[in-house]
This record gives sequence, structure tokens and C-alpha cells, in this order.
Amino acid sequence: MVGKVLNYFIETIGCQMNIYESNKLGLALSAYGVSKVNVLQEANIVILNTCSVRLQSEQKAFSFLGRAEELKKDNPNIKIIVIGCMAERIGFKIQQRFKSVDLIVGSKDIDNAVLKIVNLCNLYDFSFDKVEDFSNIVRYVTIMRGCDNYCSYCIVPLVRGREIGFNALDILEESSLLIKNGTKEVVLLGQNVNSYRYKNFNFTSLVKSLATINGLERIRFMTNHPKDLSDELIEMMATESKVCSHIHLPMQSASNKVLKAMNRKYSYEHYIGLVKKLRMAVPNIRITTDIIVGFPGETKEDFEETFKAVKEIRFGGLYVFRYSSRPDTKAANMFDNTSLKEKKMRHRLILEESNKISVEIVKSMVGNAQQVLVEKIKNGVIEARTSGGYKVFVTGGSEKDLGRHLNVSIKEAKVNSLFGDIV
Ligand code: SF4
Repeated sequence: MVGKVLNYFIETIGCQMNIYESNKLGLALSAYGVSKVNVLQEANIVILNTCSVRLQSEQKAFSFLGRAEELKKDNPNIKIIVIGCMAERIGFKIQQRFKSVDLIVGSKDIDNAVLKIVNLCNLYDFSFDKVEDFSNIVRYVTIMRGCDNYCSYCIVPLVRGREIGFNALDILEESSLLIKNGTKEVVLLGQNVNSYRYKNFNFTSLVKSLATINGLERIRFMTNHPKDLSDELIEMMATESKVCSHIHLPMQSASNKVLKAMNRKYSYEHYIGLVKKLRMAVPNIRITTDIIVGFPGETKEDFEETFKAVKEIRFGGLYVFRYSSRPDTKAANMFDNTSLKEKKMRHRLILEESNKISVEIVKSMVGNAQQVLVEKIKNGVIEARTSGGYKVFVTGGSEKDLGRHLNVSIKEAKVNSLFGDIV
């Protein structure tokens, strides 16, 4: 493909790790003179970064590949590349079903994706002067890969492999480079960052080392596992001013029977104990969570325990999922006793309650001043974020505000967004 104007379109399905990997891939491709386009029809390299965690994610990927295949009928030179968890799990089947797919790179081989794409598309390595400027205020840094927890419903350990903590010195170097290029906030990513280990580093010591980098102003991390959230980490969150006052702590269920069947390795009592400790140590901390409804064996009473917990804990936001069986997981062999109708109802009840609480929480911020970090500016409107992770829109900003901390007086609040004026 040398000599042609090349551009890529990348569709990313799934978690923050996938978003990070797609951005990294895009950055690498730009070194080969390949530009990003936002319209599928304009691309001659089409990349799909897949997720296997939920059935819906896989269905979404198939539908995208159907669209890409149609385009290839008109322009056979288009290259279609599938990467990520689905590529790992059922890459062969994807290629059987979509003959137009040129390359499959599974999540365990993701580090070689660039090389494989370069070979496939016969790309020429331009000078690094041509690297597009992806610099922005908030950047993701993956600190580990895989997971050892084998929650009975989850496909991640099967498609991403065992847990590996990346070299702490590389993480520190990558973050320092980002800061030099204008980043102010890093978000550390891993399936279970709390169990991060690399030689003498654990997660707390890694964050403490990061916090010493000059110019780095905020540190966030996700996702956390309640069984591995240590007192040491909670104390660090309380004392290290650069660490944001937000934690995503998946609860999944408040029924101990269901938690056991999920192989989550903690009880609801343990979970609620963590919530109390976090709130005691970090006043105003925003705790968000994940919930699964309709897990095999979940009775109405089990669900009611979860609903009650959502009401009592008052999360600052949550993701609720209807259980769907994933092949080769332990839960796939369990009897799925809840009808789709009932699952939908439980899903709706949790969502409605959570939205109601979220609105109450954000409305309570109206009239208060919040410190925000400015992430983007578009048509004079500032897009910023509080330490708790709430998006705040502020009018009357200018380019010079990018990357700055501002004090904003909140005048209006919606479910997860706030609107304000600069104080
Ligand atoms: S902790 Fe459980 S849910 Fe999270 S990635 Fe690992 S196995 Fe999956």
C-alpha cells in the first residue's frame, strides 16, 4: 500500500483497556504516515478492537464486520483487521464467517499488532516528525495485563491470560513522557490494579512513586477488586493529594450466596466495611460500582438484598448488567433460572434507583464551588472534571485554560454532568 494516501478507522468495543490499546495502536500507525479518519467509508485500513465480556459486545462486533464487508465489496483494497478479546477467543470462527477479514490479532498477542499491520499493509516507516500529536490532558497507562481471579461469569482470564504486572520503571517512564507532552492526569488501568506486583513494587508504592513526578497533577485508577483493596491503599488515598477522590469498586451483588457462586471471594459485610473505611478516610469520596442482575441462582430475595444495598450505600453512579452466559466460564454450566423479562425488570429497578440517587447527589453540589481540571475546549465551552470524576461544562473559556485547575461555581446539575461558571 506504499504510495497511496492511507488512513485508518478504528472501532473500539469494550473497556478502558481497549480504548487505551486502540489509542496506542493509532499513535504507532501515525508514525507510518497513516492518518485517523472518523468515517468508516473514508478508511482503507479498518480495525475492529473487540470485547468478549458480554454477548451484546460480540453481536455489536459482528454487525460492524458486516458493514465493513459491504464496503470491501466496492473497494477490495480495504484491509480489515480484528484485534482484542474476541479475536483471541474465536478468531478462527470470525475469519470463517467473514472471509473479508485480512488479519486477526488476539489479546495475548496485542503487542505484535502494529508489526503485523505494517507487514499486511506494507507500510513504510516515516520519520517520527510525522507522528500525530495525540497529546491531551488525561491519558491512560496500562499497568498490568490479564487476571487470576476467575470470577465464575467472566471470560477475561480465558482471553487475556494470567495476571502480569508491567515493569514499574517503564510505567514511571511512560508517565513522565506523557507529562512532558502536556498530560496532567494519568489513569492507571488493569483488570484488578489492587493486586499489581512488580519486583518490590505493589500498587500503593507504584502510585506513590508516580506522585513524585513533577507536573503530574492527578492520578486515577481502575478497576479495583474488593478482596484486594488494602488498608495501606486506603490510607494512601487519604494522604496523597494527587490521587483523585473516586474509586470504582465493583460489588456485583449484595447476596453472600450469589457472591460465592460468582467466586468473588468476599462477603457483603466485607464490602460494606470497605465503603465505611473509604468514606471515613476520604470525605466526599465518590464510590461507583458494577452490579450483575439475574446471575444463575439469584432469587427475588437475593435481588432485594442488592437493591437494598444500592439504596443504602448511595453509590455515585453504577453500571448494571443483565447476566448473560459466556462460553467456557464456570457459570455457563449453572442453571440460568431468571427469565429475560425478570432480568430486564431487575435491571430497570436498579438503574432507576441509581439514577435517582445520582441526581440527588449532583443536585446537592449546586451552589457550591468545585475545583476542576480542564480537559477540552470546544467553541468556547470548557469540558472539565472534578476529582470525583464528574464532568463539568463551563462557558466562556479559552485555549489558555486547557490543563489548568479552575474553581467553578455549580449552577445546574443533570444525572452525571454539572454546569457552572468560573469563580
Ligand atoms: S476480577 Fe473477575 S470480573 Fe474482573 S476481570 Fe478478573 S475474573 Fe473478570
